[in-house]
Amino acid sequence: MRRHLPMDAADPDRRRCLTQAAAAALLGLAPMARAAGVPALFDAHIHYSHDAWELVPPKQAVQILRDAGLRGAFVSSSNDDGTQKLRAEAPDLIVPELRPYRSRADTSVWVRDEAIITYMEQRLAKYTYVGVGEFHLYGADAELPVPRRMVALARERGLVLHAHSDADAIDRLFRQWPEARILWAHSGFDRPEAVAAVLKRHPRLWCDLAFRGDHASVNGSKGQVDPAWRAAFEAHPDRFMIGTDTFTPERWHYIGGHAAYSRAWLADLPPPLAEKIGWRNAEALLRPAAAAKG
Ligand SMILES: [Zn+2]
Repeated sequence: MRRHLPMDAADPDRRRCLTQAAAAALLGLAPMARAAGVPALFDAHIHYSHDAWELVPPKQAVQILRDAGLRGAFVSSSNDDGTQKLRAEAPDLIVPELRPYRSRADTSVWVRDEAIITYMEQRLAKYTYVGVGEFHLYGADAELPVPRRMVALARERGLVLHAHSDADAIDRLFRQWPEARILWAHSGFDRPEAVAAVLKRHPRLWCDLAFRGDHASVNGSKGQVDPAWRAAFEAHPDRFMIGTDTFTPERWHYIGGHAAYSRAWLADLPPPLAEKIGWRNAEALLRPAAAAKG
């Protein structure tokens, strides 16, 4: 799985899905049933979008999350009904975030669509959320009126921003809202040295490791963390978390395999650091009351 994953290109979903499913099959990563002694995990990057609801109905989706041994999942969906279906099924497990997309088609056009704000206001009036995202936002687009308004909505409610962005957009978001807490999706698909530099200049930035494989290689059940990533994790032990990224319905069947993969490479870190990246950092950012209870 040592490969550099590109930033989003046009319709990358299917290609990525096949690539990672194939990688999982090669690595022989079978879903791991929840069992005593299996390290807990919090998956900070789950989507349950419209095309997943029939293929993996809510009860089955929650069972997949539980079978993977997850203690929490940060979930968003296009549209938001998917998140609400899962939340109703498992309020203890599902930490909801509001995605500014009514369908997957909004991914590339939402930044210029004012109807998105009306949609978000309706959902925010009806449901409770911990975050806003995951949204795709690059460079100067962060200054457009619709993203600015989205940031204002999040700010009024103290919500975490979950940004699939380049470092430039992260800088711009913090300029708009210096006290924001931002979860940087996929660590920006940036190199570990660059990620560490962005973390250093923004103390209220966290990073998920969803849909990347360059931070560690796994052979069977044995994982090895890349040295440059290890240095980033050690320099910023409180800021990284794991995530599967179920951007297509089929990827729901990879959640267990991804958990096994995560446990394998986390085992190559000192246990306190592995626990932080595995679940403690996500609990502290996304469910601070639960984190205090341990
Ligand atoms: Zn995503």
